[in-house]
Amino acid sequence: MNCRECVEHLYEFLDRELTPELERQIRDHLEDCPPCGEQFDFEELFLKFLRARCRTQGAPAELKRRVLRELFGE
Ligand SMILES: [Zn+2]
Repeated sequence: MNCRECVEHLYEFLDRELTPELERQIRDHLEDCPPCGEQFDFEELFLKFLRARCRTQGAPAELKRRVLRELFGE
């Protein structure tokens, strides 16, 4: 697991859509990598905010993708 892979799976991780194995790898990486750990904290807060705003329809996938692009320049 490198930083890029970690970031790519971050939302799935937060949404608990990953396999247990992948989830464990991400958890390990977050513990070993302070920048990703901070990123994770931020995303978790952001996702909570999104969920609160979009409770009826779920967090919109397109918005999540746009935010990821903004944050990571992709
Ligand atoms: Zn990292």
